[in-house]
Amino acid sequence: MKRREFLKSSVVVGTAGVLLDACTPPGSEQIIPILIPEEQFIPGVEEFHATLCTECPGGCGLLSRKIDGRLVKVEGNPAHPISQGGSCARGQALPQVMYHPDRLASPLVREGARGEGRWTEISWDDALERLATELSSLDGPTSLAFLTGQLRGHRATLVERFAAAFGGAHRWAHEPFGDSTVRRAHALAVGRDALPAHDLEHANYVVTFGAALVEASRSPVRFGRGLGHLRRGRPGQRGKLVAVGPHLSVTAARADEWLPARPGSDAALALGFAHVLVRDGRHDERFVTDRATGFDAFRERLLSDYSPETVAGATGVAAEQIERVAHEMADYGPTLAVAGDAAVAGSTGLATALAVTHLNALLGAFDREGGVRFDPPPPFAPWPELPVLAAPPESETEADAAAAAAAPRPLVEVLADPPADVSALLVSGANPFYTLPAAAGVADLFAGVPFVAAFASFADETTRWADLILPEPTTFERFDDDVPAPGVGRAVASLSGPVFVRPLHDTRSMPDVLLQVGQRLGDDMSAALPWDSYEDALQDAWAGLHDAQRGSVVESTAGRFWRSAIESGGWWDAAALEDAAPVEFGTPDGRYQFDIAALTTGGGLAATTTDRPFLLHVYPSLAFGDGRSAHLPFLQELADPMTGVRWGSVVEVSHAAAEEHGLVDGDAVVVASAQGELQARVRVVPGLRPEVVAIAAGQGHTDYGRYATDRGANPLALLAPPDPADGAELALVGTAVSLRKIDA
Ligand code: SF4
Repeated sequence: MKRREFLKSSVVVGTAGVLLDACTPPGSEQIIPILIPEEQFIPGVEEFHATLCTECPGGCGLLSRKIDGRLVKVEGNPAHPISQGGSCARGQALPQVMYHPDRLASPLVREGARGEGRWTEISWDDALERLATELSSLDGPTSLAFLTGQLRGHRATLVERFAAAFGGAHRWAHEPFGDSTVRRAHALAVGRDALPAHDLEHANYVVTFGAALVEASRSPVRFGRGLGHLRRGRPGQRGKLVAVGPHLSVTAARADEWLPARPGSDAALALGFAHVLVRDGRHDERFVTDRATGFDAFRERLLSDYSPETVAGATGVAAEQIERVAHEMADYGPTLAVAGDAAVAGSTGLATALAVTHLNALLGAFDREGGVRFDPPPPFAPWPELPVLAAPPESETEADAAAAAAAPRPLVEVLADPPADVSALLVSGANPFYTLPAAAGVADLFAGVPFVAAFASFADETTRWADLILPEPTTFERFDDDVPAPGVGRAVASLSGPVFVRPLHDTRSMPDVLLQVGQRLGDDMSAALPWDSYEDALQDAWAGLHDAQRGSVVESTAGRFWRSAIESGGWWDAAALEDAAPVEFGTPDGRYQFDIAALTTGGGLAATTTDRPFLLHVYPSLAFGDGRSAHLPFLQELADPMTGVRWGSVVEVSHAAAEEHGLVDGDAVVVASAQGELQARVRVVPGLRPEVVAIAAGQGHTDYGRYATDRGANPLALLAPPDPADGAELALVGTAVSLRKIDA
């Protein structure tokens, strides 16, 4: 067709469209305004702002999309080194946090008895005055305690500073699916109290011991991307993923091989692999000779106690399979092992974390690509020195040691031996009334404290027991930063500022409230907290990144740097994992420690009883994590990839157990432990050891808004109270339960 003919026919078609429009019946105009703009039709004004996801420790950078001033969507920030344009379902659900009908909209003060749930709105002036009055009337600094979740970024530093400036207030932490045992294992073996970064992109063979890498563990987006690269990122080369654990998780279902080891036997299996490597001389001899201490005693223990036949008896994994997988680790490396979730939370958690660390050491993973690294810390400027705080660290190992020394006390330890003198408790980011079983004693701890204030965006089971609730803005309405862990082997700091001119409700962020209360607590406190706002405090710290004059944001002035860092979602170093030098060990002799004492910690394998013939396996949910995201309807609507369940809970039972106990899909059962019981429907699944029943964490809230309350069942309430000696926040392994079919 000639150009003139084409234009002619276009005019005819266009005219026909207009005529058709004139003749169409009423209502049909709704489908064509895009083609034929109406006078009233105003296209939306679209804006994108970098922001930060705080739903899990992953620390993903996101881009929030606003149309006409309303937040409509978030996506992964393509420039951010963790998310690289990706986000998980929990990240995608964040706009529902912003516009949730149950958000706390103003400060609340308790009416009536504690726990009754009757509140009166008060102004921020009144709330700050009440808080300041309570804190200034305390008998001494140790009468104040902070209870927090795993605080991210400078939020943690500010709470530490406030507590220190107050004279030494207690700091307690509770992070249900935290990684305290993994950090502890690395502190023992490499002198680094930190989570490592895993170079999945350069590995060929990955073995995960319990860690739900792609659905719910520490950083699903980061791990998901890394494992995708392992599989498909290198043409002609496909890596292998092996998953160990009693339950076919989403990660195990995606793995090339699943080893359904008995609950609590992960350490034995890791040492079984290590036995084969050492027995056959397939370990990294140069590493154990040049860089390690204690290998002879470790080898002796391995060779005497962890033969494949012995380990097969303990784990239920065949000796031949142990031999084969160990040889594959050596043949197809670089190999790395990762431990997490139920495998490291329980009486055998530290032993598992340490055994997996030793396995990595034998495979040479601390010295090469495709192994284990520790992220260098971003070069933040230290805040003005406080006499009571230590001088800023000068090296990475010093930074890890300082962080460990400054770490809050685990709540589990506090519950076992509660201090008598605490008269005021500030709670932020923790919900122990939901995540710990009643027998752990959380209610007694709170009952013994005369004044409790809670910072939260939503009321939950724990804020119900507060006297004062201080509503927090969402991540889209406040300043926050984060140092993602685990990272990608280079210094990364995420940053976000408000994407709205003002918060939707009458909210203030916890760090801002601490600064404002500090101003009311006398000259010493206001001198220790000299900033008008948390934004100012962050700017001071981030000035160090500007001074470094390197990385993703380099500007001529600190002010420009701050604006550019906000716009780009943070700052990160260019150096990637492959450029990193071998791990610097922070141990006294600077060498890797093949510690064997901690390998025998814990009470051995979990056991059933005649009355309770099953072992309960609780795993973090893809949609809700430990339960903190259950208030979002988008996530309730999301079908679990393995069970298909939505808006509720199921008890997963193996085919063998279902047959033996006469159960079929949909039967209502009572699951009972020594701590209590719950009701749920049975889901018969193929991927489960016969002596195990599995329930996802996250549902069963009693007070968490209209979408989560009284929905499903909370398996965390059935767990045995955690033993502080185990070093884990939950006793996820070893709770024996019974199943009883009921009519419902
Ligand atoms: S992985 Fe974690 S930080 Fe990243 S989007 Fe998901 S919940 Fe948010």
